[in-house]
Amino acid sequence: MEMTPPTLDMLTVGLLVKDGDVIKEAHSSSTLLRSDGVTVVVDTSSRERRDSIVDSLRGLDVRPEEVDFVVTTHAHHDHMGNDDLFSAAEFIMHRGEAPSEGRTVMEDDMMQIAPNVVLVHTPGHSRGSISVFVEGDQRYAVTGDAVPLEDNFRRMQPPGIHYDREVALQSIKRVGEFADIIVPGHGFPFPA
Ligand SMILES: [Zn+2]
Repeated sequence: MEMTPPTLDMLTVGLLVKDGDVIKEAHSSSTLLRSDGVTVVVDTSSRERRDSIVDSLRGLDVRPEEVDFVVTTHAHHDHMGNDDLFSAAEFIMHRGEAPSEGRTVMEDDMMQIAPNVVLVHTPGHSRGSISVFVEGDQRYAVTGDAVPLEDNFRRMQPPGIHYDREVALQSIKRVGEFADIIVPGHGFPFPA
């Protein structure tokens, strides 16, 4: 039986406004993945983006309670502000983020959650940062803040917030080696 490849839709496109090194405004992107009957949301952005996410879900004919997994790329509040929308979902976070009780903990380097949808440990911005690698019509990497903006990728510039510059660069490289299209933490998807 032919399996349909996973699809990817943006629920909201993130934003990062800086004044020099000072972050003035930050909302993450939120991405919907659908693969063989499994529905996944990667990051839920900040509270200010709630209406945008709800409208996008309605437009895609997906009810929030149909979402099976919410993947939190890392435990920063602008990536998890609307987690409560997804009451029936299993929440996944990497061990390195010290996840709270009730979440599914990603222990290893990689974890498959649906056909052609794999979580990959991409630390640097934070110890437990993860990206989602998707093999659909093209290869997509939904990176959270492993790649916050296109500029970080183009200039091989680690995210402004990082605990280890070299580790962060290795993660950007790993994303680049896989992806045709990168969905960054805070902006529009772009070709790698
Ligand atoms: Zn962020």
